[in-house]
Amino acid sequence: MTLEELKRDMELMGEKSFRAKQLYEWMHRRLSRSFDEMTNIPVSLREKCRERYEYTALRVADQQESAIDGTRKYLFELSDGNLVESVWMKYKHGNSVCISSQAGCRMGCVFCASGLDGLVRNLTASEMLDQIYAITLLSGERVSNVVVMGTGEPLDNYDNLLCFIRLLTDEEGLHISQRNVTVSTCGIVPGIRRLAKEGLQITLALSLHAATDEKRKKLMPIANKYSVEELMDACRYYFDRTGRRITFEYSLVGGINDTLEDAGELVRLLSPMNCHVNLIPVNPIKERDFVQSRGEDIIRYKNKLEKNGINVTIRREMGRDIDGACGQLRRRQKERTLQQEAAPDRCTATGRAGGVQEV
Ligand code: SAH
Repeated sequence: MTLEELKRDMELMGEKSFRAKQLYEWMHRRLSRSFDEMTNIPVSLREKCRERYEYTALRVADQQESAIDGTRKYLFELSDGNLVESVWMKYKHGNSVCISSQAGCRMGCVFCASGLDGLVRNLTASEMLDQIYAITLLSGERVSNVVVMGTGEPLDNYDNLLCFIRLLTDEEGLHISQRNVTVSTCGIVPGIRRLAKEGLQITLALSLHAATDEKRKKLMPIANKYSVEELMDACRYYFDRTGRRITFEYSLVGGINDTLEDAGELVRLLSPMNCHVNLIPVNPIKERDFVQSRGEDIIRYKNKLEKNGINVTIRREMGRDIDGACGQLRRRQKERTLQQEAAPDRCTATGRAGGVQEV
């Protein structure tokens, strides 16, 4: 609930509206984990709240820390037992958290581990927020950047996403600047157009991965629904409405979308636009046989864009020694559970080596 909604609800309950502010502060500033902590709220009101609202907190199911760069990956358990993952990254300019927006995903991009088992359910706005709150409490450090780039397709969970952004950036809450929030989408055109009209200052990242319909369809099933042309129209509309430059994500897959010809197609598509391209060397997952592009091919691709005046960076890989790619940690945990169920008597040794948990 927004503060206004909570105020109205307090009035309905016959309570003074300042109680709403107190509750809100406990939840979104002091990051309390239950009503029990709210010591300036009368016990009777806390009891009423317990009856009226569901107040849940994420539980840490697993945690990995990279020995290379300190990146931490958390596997959180939701109140119904579902698992989601979040990543904490430390940069010079501040701490960044990558959150999940759904348990599983139904988009089925071929190189991504998140979609291998399909969608389980949408996350609520609170479950998205709590990934950031829990990490803030665990790390003891402020989060300054949030990227919605974990498991799930945020624009497939639109209303909860919007509520989450409003609460996250609310000045009565953690008050993270909208400019420090990035939402990454596989390209749901009506969602992009709707988002453009919300009056937000967030960054939109678009997972393009190929510049032609033919090639994109091989990598991302969503390309069968929306053409690259429709997508680019929506992106131009987003830029016109918000003035925010779009980031195009392009995961480079060895021999699939990393040739000079591919780079030429991308130049043709993006040249007239004020945008940024972020190249992501694909993180191979064991369920698929994609390989990373060779170093020289990545550089060749980048140079071609640069020579044509396109702003381009190669995404720095973080947490390479932990299950850093989308959906990997959640999937490992599921595999472990399945193995346990298949052979419950078998003794499983769990060891930690260099931040990698192996069973
Ligand atoms: N559903 C959203 C956000 C989640 S994925 C989207 O599609 O944008 C975040 C980014 O990581 C996307 O660009 C996605 O295509 C990319 N990605 C997923 N798995 C990857 C992998 N194994 N290697 C490289 N990039 C990957």
